[in-house]
Amino acid sequence: IYLMPLFFIQILKLGMAFTLKERQILGIHGLLPSKIETQDTQAMRFQKNLKKMSDPLQKYIYLMGIQERNERLFYRVLMEDIEALMPIVYTPTVGLACTQYGHIFRRPKGLFISIKDQGHVRSILDNWPETTVKAVVVTDGERILGLGDLGVYGMGIPVGKLCLYTACAGIRPESCLPVCIDVGTDNEKLLRDPFYMGLYQRRDRSQRYDDLIDEFMEAVVDKYGQDTLIQFEDFGNHNAFRFLKKYREKFCTFNDDIQGTASVVLAGLLAAQRVVGKPITEHKVLFLGAGEAALGIANLIVMAMMEAGMSQAEARKKIWMFDKYGLLVKVNSNQEAFVHPDPGEVKSFFDAVNVIKPSAIIGVAGAGRLFSHDVIRAMGSLNEHPIIFALSNPTAKAECTAEDAYSLTQGRCLFASGSPFAPVSLEDGRILTPGQGNNAYIFPGVALAVILSGVRHISDTVFLEALTDEELSQGRLYPPLSNIREVSLQMAIKVVEYVYSKGMAFRYPEPVDKEAYVRSVVWNINYDSFLPEIYDWPGVSHSPV
Ligand code: NAP
Ligand code: MN
Repeated sequence: IYLMPLFFIQILKLGMAFTLKERQILGIHGLLPSKIETQDTQAMRFQKNLKKMSDPLQKYIYLMGIQERNERLFYRVLMEDIEALMPIVYTPTVGLACTQYGHIFRRPKGLFISIKDQGHVRSILDNWPETTVKAVVVTDGERILGLGDLGVYGMGIPVGKLCLYTACAGIRPESCLPVCIDVGTDNEKLLRDPFYMGLYQRRDRSQRYDDLIDEFMEAVVDKYGQDTLIQFEDFGNHNAFRFLKKYREKFCTFNDDIQGTASVVLAGLLAAQRVVGKPITEHKVLFLGAGEAALGIANLIVMAMMEAGMSQAEARKKIWMFDKYGLLVKVNSNQEAFVHPDPGEVKSFFDAVNVIKPSAIIGVAGAGRLFSHDVIRAMGSLNEHPIIFALSNPTAKAECTAEDAYSLTQGRCLFASGSPFAPVSLEDGRILTPGQGNNAYIFPGVALAVILSGVRHISDTVFLEALTDEELSQGRLYPPLSNIREVSLQMAIKVVEYVYSKGMAFRYPEPVDKEAYVRSVVWNINYDSFLPEIYDWPGVSHSPV
C-alpha cells in the first residue's frame, strides 16, 4: 500500500468525503463522483451492508477491509455499535477468523518476525512505516484463546486487541503495532494446510527462541523508546510465566492473560459481593484450570484479601485449583501457593465442588463444557447466590452456557463468561443479562494510562487499582459493553492518578487535572483536513512605501 501513488492512498482514506477544495488541491478532482459525502452517510452505508450479512466471518472480513480503507470510519462504526461488533473483531469471531486466517487472507496486517530473522530484528522493525509506536501487542501463536497452537494464524489476536485499544480507550491507531513471532507451529493440521502463512516447521523450543524474544524486546525499545508498552498475548503457559518474570522489571510490559484477566475477574467478584453480601475474605474459590489465567486471578484475589486484613497464608487457603490431573497435587513453581493437603475422595470436578464447597467456581481451562449440570446444581444447593464464571474463550470453550447456569440455579447465580452470551429468559418471566468477564474491560484503559504517564514497569498493584466502582445494574456484574469507552477512560484516569501519586510515572510535567488530561488526548474519529494551513498576513503591504 505504501508504494501506491499518493493520490490513490488519499482516495482510499476518505472516499467521497473529500471537500471540493481538497479534491482540487490534491489533484484528485474528477477521480471521485461529484457528491461530497458526510461521514454520517458513509457510516450509514457501512452499517446497512453489515446488517445484511448473517455470517459472522463474512462480517469480520468486511469490517477488516474497511479498517484498511478508512480507519476513522471503521472506528466510528465500531464504537457506535460496540455491543454488536466487538464479538466480530474480538472473541468469539476473531477465534474463528484465526483458525482460517490464511484462507480468508486479503492483505497483511502487523509485523511478522520469524526465527529465521535472528540477528535482523531491528532492520525488520525499521520497515514498519510508523515512527511513533507507543504500544505493541505480541503473540507467538501458541495458545490462541482456548484454541491451542495456531502459529502465525494467531496474528488475528494482536490485531483485534489493538482495535480495542483504539475503540475502547481512544489510543491512536498509528501508535499501535501488532506483532507475530513465528517460530513454527506444532499444529499438525496447519503444517499440512496449503494456505498456512508461516514457517512449515515445528516450534523451535531451543535457546534460539529465547534469544529471538530478547532481541525483539531490545529492538522495540531501541527504536521506540524505553517506555514503549509491550503486551504479551496468548503465549503458551510455560513461556508466559517465564517472560513475565524475566522482563517485568526491565521493560514496560504486562501479560494480559495473567494480569489483565486477574483484574477483570476480581472486579466481577467484588461486584458480586454486593449481591451476595459477604466480603471477599469469606469467599472460597475453586478454579477449573490452573494455568496463566487461573494463577493470575488467584494471586490478585490473595492481594485483595490481604488488603482486607487477611494474612497471605489464610488467603491462599481459600483458593483451590483443579486441573487436568485433578485437584492440584502435581505442581510447577507457579502453582505452589495453591496446593493444599488432599481432602481425599475427589475424583472429578463435581466431587471437588461437593468436598470443598466453594462460593465461586471459575472456569479457565479452555477445555469446553466442564461445568456439568450436576456441578451447577450442586453450586445452587451449596449457595444462595453461587458465583459461576465460565471464562474460557471462544464461546464453544466456555465451561457452561448462560442458559444452563441461570436455569439450573433458578436465576440465583451470578454468572459471567469470557465470550458473550445472549440474555436468558427464565420460566418465571425474568430476563437475566449475563456479564462478559473479559479482559477487554481492563487492558485498553490500563494501556492508555501507562502510555500517558510514562510508567516504566507495570506492577500488579496497577491491576488492583484499575478496578472501577461500577454500579450493579440489572444484577449485572459488568457494565454493558456500550459503556466500555467510558469505563476505560475512568479506569485510565484512576490509574494515572495512582501512578503519579506513587512516583511510578515518568512523564513530566505532571498534569494537574488528570481527568482533563486523559480526556483531552483521546483520539477522535472526525476527519482531519487534508489541506495545508492557509492564512493571511494581516497588515503587510507588498508595494514599496
Ligand atoms: P493455560 O495457561 O494453558 O491453562 C489452562 C489450564 O487448564 C491448565 O492448568 C490446564 O492443565 C488446565 N486444563 C486443560 N484441560 C483441562 C481439563 N480437561 N480439565 C481441567 N483442567 C484442564 O491457559 P490460560 O491462559 O489460563 O487460558 C485458559 C482459558 O482461559 C482459555 O480458553 C482462554 O481463552 C481463557 N481466558 C479468558 C480470559 C478472559 O478474559 N475471559 C482471559 C485469559 C484467558 P495442564 O497444564 O495440566 O494442561
Ligand atoms: Mn489472551
